[in-house]
Amino acid sequence: MENAVHRIGVFTSGGDAPGMNAAVRGVVRTCVDRGIECVGIRRGYHGLINGDIFPMNFDSVNGLLRRGGTVLYSARSEDFKAKLGQEKAMGTCKLLGLEALVGIGGDGTFRGLLAMSKQGIPVMGIPGTIDNDIACTSYTIGFDTACQTAIDSIDKLSDTMQSHERCSVVEVMGRNAGHLAMYVGVACGATCVLVPEHKVNFAKDVVEPIRRARIGGRTHFMVIVAEGVGSAYDVATKIKEATSLDTRVTVLGHVQRGGAPTARDRVTATNMGYEAVTLLAEGKKNRVIGLQGEEYVNYDIEEALSMKKGLNEQTYEVMRALSGMG
Ligand code: ATP
Repeated sequence: MENAVHRIGVFTSGGDAPGMNAAVRGVVRTCVDRGIECVGIRRGYHGLINGDIFPMNFDSVNGLLRRGGTVLYSARSEDFKAKLGQEKAMGTCKLLGLEALVGIGGDGTFRGLLAMSKQGIPVMGIPGTIDNDIACTSYTIGFDTACQTAIDSIDKLSDTMQSHERCSVVEVMGRNAGHLAMYVGVACGATCVLVPEHKVNFAKDVVEPIRRARIGGRTHFMVIVAEGVGSAYDVATKIKEATSLDTRVTVLGHVQRGGAPTARDRVTATNMGYEAVTLLAEGKKNRVIGLQGEEYVNYDIEEALSMKKGLNEQTYEVMRALSGMG
């Protein structure tokens, strides 16, 4: 069947996530397989406005599966949010003869894609963010690697907290969502996990689990705080006041965004890249790729942006029950 598009552009945008490179590779290699030309756009919408582009082929994505970060660089562009910026970006597409765009990023990136679709160019969105906060997909590229990075650090912290009989308070990324903190908390057997989706009752959710654990014989404690809840330093101060425990704060920060992607991120990114190009080749447009169970799905971009994602309440209940939060 004849391809509906002949030359497309691919870019990464917003906060970077491990596996973005694997998604770029998936897009480029699928283009090569289908006989579609692919142009790499550096620095997201900033590069689209400024024509910061280069041709990509089979060999330009060699070795990308296992590389963290994004070789296309990522950026946040204020200029693009204005109509003029979007018109300039469309000018680049016209100049290069791009017939579609594939953007890899989060919600903001998809809003940008929607704006480009309104300029008249077909778009595809691939969810790449460590936050796992995109509603139309149960999984976003980078989440698994970020969880593993956080777990590795927390396991190490637990060793030293045990030696000194301290309480560790660890701030985990996730923006306004608690998915990352909750998964990490379950995987590390945290004493308690604070997420923005649930109002924190400090006495019941923090102090009591620590007391229970201490009475049970434990002498070191691990409190996980999602960044959307607030500062881990404030939580640590309150714990010290309430319990007199020696507390130590660790803000994991940007280390969670780096590293070689896990198998799950490599495979998901590869499949999503393939899906995005295949849909464009078939003449579909303005969709966001998602994963539901084992199946790759796609949603209209406006519908995808209107969907809301809650925490996995089943896992949250399990976390509460097993951590001692009750
Ligand atoms: P992350 O969730 O990892 O931060 P993101 O894609 O949500 O990723 P944003 O900074 O929100 O990151 O968005 C990336 C870029 O998309 C912005 O810098 C901007 O150029 C563009 N963008 C965001 N929101 C809009 C919007 N409402 N209209 C047009 N463009 C937008």
